[in-house]
Amino acid sequence: MNVYKIAVLPGDGIGPEVMKEALKVLKALSNIDSTFAYEITAFHWNTDHYVKHGLMMPENGLKQLEPFDSILFGAVGDSRVSEHIPIWELIMPIRKKFQQYINFRPIKLLRGLETPLKQEKDIDFVIIRENAEGEYSTAGGKMYQGESRELAVQNTIMTREGISRVATYAFQYAREYQLHKVTNATKSNAIIHTMSLWDEVVEEIANDFDEISYEKYYVDAIAALFVERPEDLQLVLASNLFGDILSDLGSAIAGGLGVAPSANINPNGDFPSMFEPVHGSAPDIAGQGVANPIAQIWSLALMLQHFGRSDLHDHVLSSIEDVLVEKKLLTPDIGGSATTEQVGDTIVNKLQKRMGLA
Ligand code: ATP
Repeated sequence: MNVYKIAVLPGDGIGPEVMKEALKVLKALSNIDSTFAYEITAFHWNTDHYVKHGLMMPENGLKQLEPFDSILFGAVGDSRVSEHIPIWELIMPIRKKFQQYINFRPIKLLRGLETPLKQEKDIDFVIIRENAEGEYSTAGGKMYQGESRELAVQNTIMTREGISRVATYAFQYAREYQLHKVTNATKSNAIIHTMSLWDEVVEEIANDFDEISYEKYYVDAIAALFVERPEDLQLVLASNLFGDILSDLGSAIAGGLGVAPSANINPNGDFPSMFEPVHGSAPDIAGQGVANPIAQIWSLALMLQHFGRSDLHDHVLSSIEDVLVEKKLLTPDIGGSATTEQVGDTIVNKLQKRMGLA
């Protein structure tokens, strides 16, 4: 039997609190299902590590992570270090070195949750965001710092290969999950070089998938669509920056950051993929035991799906929904007064019921 090797990076703030609950779910799954086995190794690469060693992870950190089947990540960052340090010294090196060029974010209003939109909507689509190049590059620089003529240049890097692989993944995903439409988020009317290459390559790929319809919207119009007609969307394909912004909007219409998962995927399996909640370390509520663990647990479910265990993914998601529908034990961010631990335990309980152990 395959034993999945999982690297666990709990991080800072609420990261370790929500991770603890996700690991309970993982343990429950292997107890219930004898065909599922895993081994975890924890890496405490966080702000404490940075304060002690001047590095977010050891020099050979990426080498240490490379042999794992996947990485389960919590959240990093606290006020002792400036915000860009954990991003550029831990998260970005992992995404880039391991060629996790897909950022996958389901925008799904789970059963039992309410949308802040005025009318109840059927919200169930995915965002596939380019995750390795685009607007998030370090190419550029500053000149004349502190002078009145100071200037800054930040370059966007878009390559035919980079666009082609994310677009191919998106259309293949649509085919596999029987989605009928891919919506391209662009801005080629104003960003005339990089975004026009983006559109050109996406359209070439779209032509290879006759059965899937393709539409192109300017990103500002898509933002409006998220609010006015989210039920019309099935799969949104976006560049790094646009996908980042749209996915926060997406999580806002579907229950908020406490329930928003994400996956950073290396589709060809050459390197581990990484699964993490969309939220950060939430210093304002850290240590209080009230963080919502659902985003982390759903991220874990995405990892199971990536392992080819869609059955386990579905059980976890349905168990989360059982808890939401029951409305007895919810964390404060979604209108309850329960603790992180109570919610984690209740999800495990529902899972045992669903999978026939209780
Ligand atoms: P980052 O820059 O790392 O994203 P941030 O402080 O801007 O950090 P978050 O840490 O995600 O963003 O927090 C934003 C808000 O959402 C905070 O008020 C936080 O308490 C709340 N929040 C985030 N995650 C959760 C969660 N799991 N449960 C409850 N509230 C959360």
